[in-house]
Amino acid sequence: MKIYNTLSKKIETFTPNEEGIVRLYTCGPTVYHYAHIGNLRTYIFEDILEKGLEYLGYDVIRAMNITDVGHLTSDSDTGDDKMLLASKRENKSVYDIAEFYTNAFFLDCSKLNIRKPSIVEKASDNIDFYIKMITKMLDDGYAYIAGGNVYFDITKANDYYKLSGKNPDELYVGVRDTVEEDKNKRNAGDFVLWFTSSKFENQDMKWDSPWGIGYPGWHIECSGISGKYLGEYLDIHCGGVDNIFPHHTNEIAQSEAYFGHKWCNYWMHGEHLNDQSGKMSKSKGEFLTISLLEEKGYDPLSYRYFVLSSHYRNQLTFSYEALDIAQNSYKKLKNKIKQLDRTPNLSDKKLDYYQDKFKEAIGNDLNTSTMLTLVYDVLKDNELSDFTKLYLIEDFDKVLSLNLIEDIEEVSSELDELIRRKIEEREIAKANKDYALADKIRDELLQRGVKLIDTKDKTKYELI
Ligand code: AMP
Ligand code: ZN
Repeated sequence: MKIYNTLSKKIETFTPNEEGIVRLYTCGPTVYHYAHIGNLRTYIFEDILEKGLEYLGYDVIRAMNITDVGHLTSDSDTGDDKMLLASKRENKSVYDIAEFYTNAFFLDCSKLNIRKPSIVEKASDNIDFYIKMITKMLDDGYAYIAGGNVYFDITKANDYYKLSGKNPDELYVGVRDTVEEDKNKRNAGDFVLWFTSSKFENQDMKWDSPWGIGYPGWHIECSGISGKYLGEYLDIHCGGVDNIFPHHTNEIAQSEAYFGHKWCNYWMHGEHLNDQSGKMSKSKGEFLTISLLEEKGYDPLSYRYFVLSSHYRNQLTFSYEALDIAQNSYKKLKNKIKQLDRTPNLSDKKLDYYQDKFKEAIGNDLNTSTMLTLVYDVLKDNELSDFTKLYLIEDFDKVLSLNLIEDIEEVSSELDELIRRKIEEREIAKANKDYALADKIRDELLQRGVKLIDTKDKTKYELI
């Protein structure tokens, strides 16, 4: 598989640390509000990545955080805690806010067929591990205490700017939008690992620590959850492009300081979804959520289709006109598939050919539009039986997750049923010593792409 690595700024051949296993970390939501459809574009990209890796034969272990504390309105420690602002806005406790928007997030994900990662951890449930990391970073001289807070000293990191590849002056433009200099910092770019004094007004979520009662900074949460659940060598880390700096830059600095070696080999970032006026946001313009699209009559999967039509590294502009076109194509596609004849007849001829093409598209830095085109190519191919088309589309849909075949169980179970019947007929032929017939059945199935394997007690099969 070839992927674009933000760290090297090149397309690279992917090799995991451990053969056949991928340890994947994807930054999760800050649960202070609904996710907008831009946020969800990033989670669709990560979902395709996970399922694509599985299609290529990897076992994927994926972890994600739920940020319920410590994420301030500016990504670099200025402004207020987003959760606290939400609790004031809605007159609820931060715990209630977190629970409500976490559930809302996973509901949106399920509408978009985004699978829940196998490890999902609340930031507030892993305080012990952040304390362990921060303690070691203080002992080793990477961190310092000033004015009650604990800071990371970026001059101690190994090549702090290596992920963004930009110089500090370029990077800080825009990040310090609410310029509010923190006099405790040794260097302007230093960031908070643990807050005890500043940003502390009415904070409900707080814990005891060696540095006083307080709460963790946002960046340490991802380093902590990744390190605790996926170990000290990570294969791939993802997020949206806005996460490159400062969030992921800080994650690398902390994790490499703590583990004492290179931590993550591949960094993949999804480009933004924009609205007509530019960057999508929760505070300006129409707040575009999945529920809003549903209220307007759109199927959430039309939005998934819209996202998959473009490459994750290209910016995409949302408009209702563009979504109309996507919804129209998606519905037409499903209709065509519905009309296919389901009589079991698996012609083996081009199964491999199309499955290899699909793997190539995944391996080509997740080329989702080519994956979609392959569905159309299969439908157009006159050399394939309708059943083979269904079989292939069902197979591709394990990654695309567009519910292309509604009653998905049926296709595989009809195939199983056909093979089971043929195996039975062959058993009877063998019992009657009609070996010519038994061989004929075996060859017929082979021609349909099904290879029979005779074992001591029964006949098994595999699709070739
Ligand atoms: P947040 O909940 O704000 O931490 O963001 C959740 C995810 O959405 C992060 O990975 C962001 O990088 C990503 N994100 C934020 N804005 C957009 C956007 N307009 N388009 C795509 N992804 C975004
Ligand atoms: Zn993160």
